[in-house]
Amino acid sequence: MSVVGIDLGFLNCYIAVARSGGIETIANEYSDRCTPACISLGSRTRAIGNAAKSQIVTNVRNTIHGFKKLHGRSFDDPIVQTERIRLPYELQKMPNGSAGVKVRYLEEERPFAIEQVTGMLLAKLKETSENALKKPVADCVISIPSFFTDAERRSVMAAAQVAGLNCLRLMNETTAVALAYGIYKQDLPPLDEKPRNVVFIDMGHSAYQVSVCAFNKGKLKVLATTFDPYLGGRNFDEALVDYFCDEFKTKYKINVKENSRALLRLYQECEKLKKLMSANASDLPLNIECFMNDLDVSSKMNRAQFEQLCASLLARVEPPLKAVMEQASLQREDISSIEIVGGATRIPAVKEQITKFFLKDISTTLNADEAVARGCALQCAILSPAFKVREFSITDLVPYSITLRWKTSFEDGTGECEVFCKNHPAPFSKVITFHKKETFELEAFYTNLHEVPYPDARIGSFTIQNVFPQSDGDSSKVKVKVRVNIHGIFSVASASVIEKQNLEGDHSDAPMETETSFKNENKDNMDKMQVDQEEGGHQKCHAEHTPEEEIDHTGAKTKSAVSDKQDRLNQTLKKGKVKSIDLPIQSSLCRQLGQDLLNSYIENEGKMIMQDKLEKERNDAKNAVEEYVYDFRDRLGTVYEKFITPEDMNKLSVILEDTENWLYEDGEDQPKQVYVDKLQELKDEKYDHLDPAEMEKVEKYISDAMSWLNSKMNAQNKLSLTQDPVVKVSEIVAKSKELDNFCNPIIYKPKPKVEVPEDKAKANSEHNGPMDGQSGNETKSDSTKDSSQHTKSSGEMEVD
Ligand code: ATP
Ligand code: MG
Repeated sequence: MSVVGIDLGFLNCYIAVARSGGIETIANEYSDRCTPACISLGSRTRAIGNAAKSQIVTNVRNTIHGFKKLHGRSFDDPIVQTERIRLPYELQKMPNGSAGVKVRYLEEERPFAIEQVTGMLLAKLKETSENALKKPVADCVISIPSFFTDAERRSVMAAAQVAGLNCLRLMNETTAVALAYGIYKQDLPPLDEKPRNVVFIDMGHSAYQVSVCAFNKGKLKVLATTFDPYLGGRNFDEALVDYFCDEFKTKYKINVKENSRALLRLYQECEKLKKLMSANASDLPLNIECFMNDLDVSSKMNRAQFEQLCASLLARVEPPLKAVMEQASLQREDISSIEIVGGATRIPAVKEQITKFFLKDISTTLNADEAVARGCALQCAILSPAFKVREFSITDLVPYSITLRWKTSFEDGTGECEVFCKNHPAPFSKVITFHKKETFELEAFYTNLHEVPYPDARIGSFTIQNVFPQSDGDSSKVKVKVRVNIHGIFSVASASVIEKQNLEGDHSDAPMETETSFKNENKDNMDKMQVDQEEGGHQKCHAEHTPEEEIDHTGAKTKSAVSDKQDRLNQTLKKGKVKSIDLPIQSSLCRQLGQDLLNSYIENEGKMIMQDKLEKERNDAKNAVEEYVYDFRDRLGTVYEKFITPEDMNKLSVILEDTENWLYEDGEDQPKQVYVDKLQELKDEKYDHLDPAEMEKVEKYISDAMSWLNSKMNAQNKLSLTQDPVVKVSEIVAKSKELDNFCNPIIYKPKPKVEVPEDKAKANSEHNGPMDGQSGNETKSDSTKDSSQHTKSSGEMEVD
C-alpha cells in the first residue's frame, strides 16, 4: 500500500511519499517537485499543474488558480466576493448556493463546483504519485490550514473523493510541520519531564499560521494555534502591483488594472522582483516588454522601499505570535526553538519581525517548501498498517469553541452547553447525557463567531430520533456522543438510550455505569459530560475531565481493546438489568454536499480523465506523423543521401512536404485514426511481417560469412601476388550463393495478402521507391525486383 502526503497549497502543491529509506518528495513530469495549483480548461482537454500555469496569461478566463479559499463557502460569502474581484476568471453561484467557477471547456460554458476544481488538482497529484511509485495510490493525508472550519474541511474531503483519494486525515499544516520536525528528534525530554516547546510559523502565499507545540519523547501536543488567514506572499505582491500601477499611470498614461492580461503579467513580474529583493538589498529593475499598447515599461525598486511599502503588512506579523504565547500561557524563555516554513517567510523583513518578537534567532532547518508534505506523508505512514513507523502520538486541537443548543420545555426555551472549548485537544469524543421524552434536535455552532474567519456560526443540526418516555412516564436517559474527529470535523457520532429492565434487584442508579469507553490506539480522548435539564430549568452541564480513551482513528471500534468500564456495562447488559438501544441520528450539516451531487462530480471527473486520455493519444498520434516527417527529412540529407538517386530524393521530398503541409491544413485537427493511417502510409511495411527469430538467424549467418571472408582476405593480404591465392573466386561465389539460399527465403517472404481498395493500391504504387525500405506498400513483383538488386549489391560489397 502506498503512503502519500499532499500539501495542498494556495499556489504550490507538494507530494511526499514514505519509502523504506525514509520520506521522499516526488517530482512531476517536468522534474519539478512543486506542482502549481492551477488548472486550464481548453476546447479539447484540460491542463493541470505546470502546463496550466504557462497558460495563465494566454488563456486568462479559463485558467483557474487561487481557489483554495473558496472551499465550503457560499457564493454570497464576503470572502468569496473579495476573492472574486481579484480573480481573472468568473465565479458562479452553484444551484446549492455554493461558490463555483464558470469556464469554457469542450467548446461550451461549464460551471464547476470548487470540489470539482480541487478534485481535478488532486487527481493530477494522484497521477504524479502513481507515476513515481509505479503503483496505484488511494490512501493519503492532505494538509489544510488550521483555521479551516468544518464546512471548509468537509469540502476538501469531498474534493479528495472526487479525485478517487481516500483521505486518512486532513492535517493542519503547522501540525504536519511539527511532526516532520519532531519525529526524527532523538533528544526530546522523557515523558515525565518538562516538554520542549517549539513555535512553528508558516507564511505561504495566502495565509499566515502560527502554532506552539510541546514535545516529549514520542509525543507531540499542539498547545495553541493562531493565524492571519488574509496575510501571505500574495499581499506583498499586491503591494508591489499597486505601486507600479500608480507609477505607470503617471509615467506611461496606462491603466493596467483595466487589462487583465497585463495585470497578470505585472503580478508575475512583481513576484519575481519580490523574491529577488529577498536576496539583494540594492536597486533591482522591473522591465516588461510589450506590456500594454505595444509599450515597453520599466521601473525599479529596492528592499528598503519595499519594506516601507509593506509596513502595514509587516505590522501584522506580530499579533498572532503574541496571541499564541498568551493562549499557551508561555513566556519567551519557555520556547526552545522557532521553526519557520512557507515561501513568504523568506522575506527578510518578515523574519526580522519574528526575531524581534522572540528576541531569539529563528531556525530554518526545516525545508520551507516541503515540510508540510513530508509531515503529511509521515502521518500517513503512522496511520497505514502497511508501514512500521516509530511510535509517535499527535494531539492536535479544536481551533474554535463549539456549543450545542437544544429546545427545552422551560421558560427560556433553549438549553446550551459549550462542548469543546477553544484549543481543546483533538481528536476527542465526549458523552453527554440528556433527559428527554421525545425526539430532540441538537444544534451545533461556533460559540464566538468573531474569532472564526467564516460568516456563519452554524455547524449543523442533529436530530436524535426514537426517544420516548420510559414506561413509568419518566424521561429517558439519552447518551449522546459528540466528537471532533481526526480531520478536525465535529459531529454527533452516536446516541443511545439506556432502558431499565424492571427486574428484581435492579438498581436505578445505573446511569454512571452507562458511560461507555473504549481504548484508543490513536489516543482519541473522551470526557463524560452530564447535561441535566430536569433541575428546575437550570442547565447543569459539566464535563468530567477523566480523559478516557476511545478508538476512533478510522471511526471503527476495536472490541479487543474494551476498557474495564465497558466490561462492567456489558455484564450489566448481559444480566438483562439495562438495555442500550442505539438511536438513529439525522444530520443536516452546514454547506454539506449531497451524496448524489458528489457522485455526479466523481462520475464527471472520470469522464474528463478519459477525455484527456483520448486527446493525449490523438495528439501523440499527430506528433508521431510530424516527428516521422522531420526525422526522415533529416536522414535524407545525411545517412540516406548516398544511397538515393536524385529522382527518388525528389519524390520523397515531395511526399514529406505534402505531409507537412497537410499537418498544418486539413490534417491539423483530425481523429486519432487518421494520423495512425497517415503514419502507416508513410512507413514501409515491407518487413513488418517477418519473424524476429528468423531474422536473428539471418544476422548470424551473415556475420559468420563476413568472418569467413575477412579471415580469407587477411590471409590473402599476407601473401605475395606470385603465391597461390588462399581463396578462389569460385569459392566466394559459392559462399554468396549459400548466403542467398539461406537468407532470401526469410527476408523476401511474401507479405500476407491484404485487401486493398483498387484506387488506394494504385495511389500507393505510385509512391513506391527504394526509400531504404521506407516507402509505401510493395507488390510482390516489387519485392522480386528488390531481391535481385539486393543480391547484386551484396555481391559488390564482397568485392569491396
Ligand atoms: P498557502 O500556504 O497560503 O496555501 P502555498 O503553500 O502555496 O500557500 P508557499 O509555497 O509556501 O505557499 O509560498 C509561496 C509564496 O512564497 C509566494 O508568495 C512566493 O512569492 C513566496 N516566496 C517564495 N520564495 C520567496 C523568496 N525567496 N522571497 C520572498 N517570497 C518568496
Ligand atoms: Mg502552504
